[in-house]
Amino acid sequence: MPFRDYRVTSKFGYRRDVWTGIGFTFHTGIDLVKYHKASIQAFTDGEVIFAGMGRTGTGLGGFGKVVLLQDKNNRGQLYAHLDSVSVQRGQYVKKGQVIGEQGDTGKTTGSHLHYEVRKKAETQPPYGWTSDRTNNCLDPTKYLQNYRDNKHIIQDIQSGLNTKYQTGLSIDGISGPLTIKAAIKGYQIELNKQFNAKLNVDGIWGQKTKAATVTIASGAKGNITWILQAMLYIKGENPKGLDGIFGTNTNNAVKSFQQKESILIDGKAGKVTWEKLFL
Ligand SMILES: [Zn+2]
Repeated sequence: MPFRDYRVTSKFGYRRDVWTGIGFTFHTGIDLVKYHKASIQAFTDGEVIFAGMGRTGTGLGGFGKVVLLQDKNNRGQLYAHLDSVSVQRGQYVKKGQVIGEQGDTGKTTGSHLHYEVRKKAETQPPYGWTSDRTNNCLDPTKYLQNYRDNKHIIQDIQSGLNTKYQTGLSIDGISGPLTIKAAIKGYQIELNKQFNAKLNVDGIWGQKTKAATVTIASGAKGNITWILQAMLYIKGENPKGLDGIFGTNTNNAVKSFQQKESILIDGKAGKVTWEKLFL
């Protein structure tokens, strides 16, 4: 239950118009109440792309003082009607970090937090706002329930490695040397099984393992792609899934990683890319 600290005063979706009482309008977020000037904490990690008074015509008008976060899925999480904000643009906030205080700035019927999830995080006006109100935002309750933070993803990777390769990792969600060693073991097992590489399964990235490496690219499927996705997550990239399918998102994550490592940006996982991932 993502909003357990709050009382929900208005849900996402169609509701009786709060100003006229006539007809129905689409509520693009959820209204939440603790008490006036209560601390508001971020529901997920994210980067602040706007903090302050939302001006009319910028996609933030009427929302009063707001904080807009860009999350790892490139969604825009808007915290609106704040009494004050305590973060600034460009700052990276962690889940649970205080970003401001509940208030009644902007067009409101009283002190509350209006929280909405815009499908697209834009760093400038209109900040992911579109005139298509019914299609602009996601249901925030469902969104947060399905939101996988980094710790959960690392836990998924650790339990996946244990299941597939009996690596005996503790599922702590921390990607340290043991997790990487387990991933290398898995990789060696796959190279042995799929390509008869005859490697020692020692979890050490050495010359023999490097020499046995196969290049994988868009269209690949299976456990080696799964290990690639796992290592991309561990290295801070976001392939948007651990499905073992090398599609557009994995391709983009490989390119992003290659760019950060200053190696050839071809979107393929070859010897140099694997080495940068494992070392
Ligand atoms: Zn609202």
